[in-house]
Amino acid sequence: MTGKLPVFNIERFAIHDGEGIRTAVFLQGCPLKCPWCANPESQVIGKKLMFLQKKCVGCGTCVQCCPQHAVSLEDGHAQLDRGSCVRCGACAAACPQAALKISGQWMTVDEIFALVVRDADYYRQTNGGLTLSGGEALLHIEELLPLLQDCKDHQIPVDFETCGHVPAEAIEKALPWTERFLFDVKTADAEKFRRFTGGSLDVVLKNLKIIAKYDAQKLVVRVPVIPTLNHTEKEIRAILDVALCLGISRVDLLPYHTLGMTKYAQLGQEYPFSEKKSLSPEALQSYADMGRKLGLIVTIGG
Ligand code: SF4
Ligand code: SF4
Repeated sequence: MTGKLPVFNIERFAIHDGEGIRTAVFLQGCPLKCPWCANPESQVIGKKLMFLQKKCVGCGTCVQCCPQHAVSLEDGHAQLDRGSCVRCGACAAACPQAALKISGQWMTVDEIFALVVRDADYYRQTNGGLTLSGGEALLHIEELLPLLQDCKDHQIPVDFETCGHVPAEAIEKALPWTERFLFDVKTADAEKFRRFTGGSLDVVLKNLKIIAKYDAQKLVVRVPVIPTLNHTEKEIRAILDVALCLGISRVDLLPYHTLGMTKYAQLGQEYPFSEKKSLSPEALQSYADMGRKLGLIVTIGG
């Protein structure tokens, strides 16, 4: 769908996706399959029907309006037959409790920019701007170029949050427009990277090097600290060494959390990761201290 972008969320006044006050635009489509992903609705492009069972009062409105007969009532609440659902959204529009929601819509650059530019004064006052996230926003670089031009024309800085697992051309195209890349380095162990995410660490490190060579100050290395993936001193040290070798000075350590678990339930999916307990920020303190001793600027929580 040329010229349109698959958006699943737009967050106004975001403060965890880069500096200052920002608008974060989240796009669908991701090349990796991290089992701890907190946004399962982002992984594949297309509409998703989300059902918040707690809100459902069993009124039956959705049963009446579904053209596919994909909803029934069971034990006092709606029951979805997802195999028959065509994600038309009729039930979501009619539900008086907002217990049903369609996630994922195609938006034009003009529609997105109109939402972004509203808060230009806040960006100016706080060194904020637009953050393009996902999913993996860089997969859509061609469609994003006009948006990047609009932002430049209005002096709105743009950051990308990226998993780094994209074609090098996407990075090269984004570079001149981008103030900062919040760049995930999940592990320095290629075998673990492949096993946990299905991707190739070579691709990620190659892209990291391209940006570092262009301007290492554009980079913040983001490390999701995940039990069984990298939650040991040795593994975090290996990631910090990657940053140091490339002249990158800023590292964010992000404690593993399970906030996304409810979304899997809303999508009718099992949570695929074995660990079910969040890490506290304190659990990362020794890693932060280690990084600071090495001369890095380390933040816990981004
Ligand atoms: S319309 Fe909403 S509240 Fe009523 S049964 Fe359907 S999901 Fe539940
Ligand atoms: S999205 Fe459409 S097809 Fe799917 S359950 Fe709702 S009304 Fe039925």
